[in-house]
Amino acid sequence: MASLWQNDGRDGWTARALEPGDWFELGRSGEAVGRVGVAGRGAVVLTRYRDEVTGRERWVMLAGARAGARVNGQCVQTGVRALRDRDVIEANGETWFLSTERLPATEPYTATASGATCRRCGLSMESGQAAVRCPRCESWHHEMNDRRCWTSLTGCAGCGRQTSSESYVWTPALL
Ligand SMILES: [Zn+2]
Ligand SMILES: [Zn+2]
Repeated sequence: MASLWQNDGRDGWTARALEPGDWFELGRSGEAVGRVGVAGRGAVVLTRYRDEVTGRERWVMLAGARAGARVNGQCVQTGVRALRDRDVIEANGETWFLSTERLPATEPYTATASGATCRRCGLSMESGQAAVRCPRCESWHHEMNDRRCWTSLTGCAGCGRQTSSESYVWTPALL
C-alpha cells in the first residue's frame, strides 16, 4: 500500500498509508490526507488507478489553480501530473513525499494462467495457500504454518529485500 511521508518537525518523518480508496486531498492544515469528492480551486487531489497490463498502482495528481503545486520543484502548470515513487509534492505551503512501497503481507495465493513457484523452496504455489509476494521483486513465497518460506529468511530469496513487515525500506530520512 502506498503512503505519504511528512516531516512533523518533532520526531522526524511519519508515513500515512493511503488506504484503499480513489481520492485523497492534501489539506491546507490539520489532516494531511482525507478523502474528498470534489476539488476546489486551491485543492490538490491524488487519485489512483490500476494499470491493467501490469496490475500495478498508478498515481495522478490534480492541482487547483491557487494551490501553487510543484512536483520535484517543477510547477504543475497544466494542473495534472502523473506521479512516481519518491516524488516530492509541494502545495499550499506543505511538503509530502509519495512512496509506492508496500509492506510485505500474508495473503492467499491466487493462481494465474502462468502459475508460480515459491522462490525459496521451488515447489509450485497452489491456490489458497497462505503466501507473501515480495514488495520489491514480486516473487511469491509460501507462508503457511508448516512451511514458512518467507519469514524463515531474513531477506527475500529473489532480491534480498528484508522480510520483516515492521518497517519501510525507504524513508525520506535516507535522502
Ligand atoms: Zn516455499
Ligand atoms: Zn524480492
